[in-house]
Amino acid sequence: RTPSAYGFPLLIKNILRTPLAYYPDREIVYRDKMTYTYVELNQRIQRLANALEKMGVKQGDTVAVMDWDSHRYLECFFAVPMMGAVLHTINIRLSPEQLIYTINHAKDDVILVNADFLPLLAAVKDQMKTVKKIILLNDKDGTPDTPLNLDDEYENLLAGSEPAYEFPDFDENAMATTFYTTGTTGLPKGVYFSHRQIVLHTYGLMSGLCAYEAQAGINSGDVYMPLTPMFHVHAWGIPYLCTMLGTKQVYPGKYEPEMLLKLIVSQKVTFSHCVPTIIHMLVSSPAIKQLDLSRWKVVIGGSALPRGLCKAGLENGINLYTAYGMSETCPLLTVANLKPHMFQWDAERQVEMRCRTGLPVPNVLLEVVDTEGNPLPHDGKSAGEVVVRSPWLTQGYVGDEEKSEELWANGWLHTGDIGFIDPEGYLQITDRVKDVIKTGGEWISSLELEDIISRHDAVSEAAVIGVPDPKWAERPLALVVLKPGAEAETSEEELKAFFAKYAEDGVIPKYGVPDKVLIVDSIAKTSVGKINKKQLREDYK
Ligand code: ADP
Repeated sequence: RTPSAYGFPLLIKNILRTPLAYYPDREIVYRDKMTYTYVELNQRIQRLANALEKMGVKQGDTVAVMDWDSHRYLECFFAVPMMGAVLHTINIRLSPEQLIYTINHAKDDVILVNADFLPLLAAVKDQMKTVKKIILLNDKDGTPDTPLNLDDEYENLLAGSEPAYEFPDFDENAMATTFYTTGTTGLPKGVYFSHRQIVLHTYGLMSGLCAYEAQAGINSGDVYMPLTPMFHVHAWGIPYLCTMLGTKQVYPGKYEPEMLLKLIVSQKVTFSHCVPTIIHMLVSSPAIKQLDLSRWKVVIGGSALPRGLCKAGLENGINLYTAYGMSETCPLLTVANLKPHMFQWDAERQVEMRCRTGLPVPNVLLEVVDTEGNPLPHDGKSAGEVVVRSPWLTQGYVGDEEKSEELWANGWLHTGDIGFIDPEGYLQITDRVKDVIKTGGEWISSLELEDIISRHDAVSEAAVIGVPDPKWAERPLALVVLKPGAEAETSEEELKAFFAKYAEDGVIPKYGVPDKVLIVDSIAKTSVGKINKKQLREDYK
């Protein structure tokens, strides 16, 4: 058939064309170790493709990566799918059982592994069923000691390969990436995304983050540094966006607070994204007071942004706001962009809007539905399950018909999140179905209680969970980490009274006041740094 405009496939390789035309000399930086240009990025991507092909990688094969956030990862984001192979981004924090499960389940043919994770991989080496080659990613000289049979080293491979590769055209629906949900319940579940989906999602990100007259706005002049592991939903797809825009990109490797702050300052980073925990760690660090972070825009996702933390960030000059999504949704669904008239509102209400879950980006249909699947009114209070449709949602879970059907019941993707939509159209997630506290037949939003206590001056971090109760089924328990130095003058009773005041003012019902507030030293986190409520429920039951 004669090619026509309708037949033009949406392929990842086309994302890479524009920055080469606009900003060929813009830099890609890796820690304090390496800096090179987009022209070199393009050459290194082609070298990598040649090397992988020489190694036997064909269309449809799976190439897996275990690395910190690096320029190498960025190169794999492009080279692997552009060849027609599938990129499997391995979660380096899975348990050995889960790790080997995902490697075998995804049928990895090649694994590129950072020297730091050799012991992890070595521990499961006898159980690997499909892996034919292992390539070392190494920041140091010399070969580390390992029982694994390493086939080559990354820089050596690139140096020995031609910087020219003819990336083929193929069906835009070909699988580009796969990865596994963090598996807080049962075995990890594999999701997958096609070229078409990644390309459309990149445009979705561009509209949601770059296009509106809002509080932030990303463009090609920004300097980007991810603070989300690149295995976590391809760093939320933002490396694809920033490459398309041709921004300078900074990859921090392993997250070490000193290195992060050093890079933010020395490379003049203006745009990052992370879970709340990372911002919490940075704003709690004494070093932050000396830094000018007033040009730094940070998108918070993965968990709700508590208002107390948002305020602390803003006070340090950081332009913080929320976005929402999940592994199954590529991930972007909504961004908390303020509308122009909201800039007339007082500071408190603006903070509230930055912490809203957000407005759906173009090409995301989002509704909150009752148990029969009927859409609920956008009245700011009717809460139900959030369901979505969009071209970039996973078609299902790899090899799991039953769970895929559940996910896609009635033609909508079921997020497992509960929320409401307000009259301005903003979604507010109030809880996950799994985390909502069920007390005496009523539901209490754990996120709302966390948001309230985050506004207490002495509170550094908090989690609220339901614990079993013989009379009410469950009752809320608040776990609170105090700011350093606040221990002496803050009691559990006082924190409980802080909640009670919100009940007196009618913000939460009386039965929403936690029976108990416990001051603790730390709060358990998941493999991607979110508060681990499942673990907490187990620990405090
Ligand atoms: P995991 O389920 O292991 O945390 P995901 O990263 O896929 O893995 O998590 C997606 C979930 O994170 C969403 O379903 C939602 O519950 C939560 N989430 C993500 N962004 C937000 C947000 N802005 N506000 C509240 N919850 C969020």
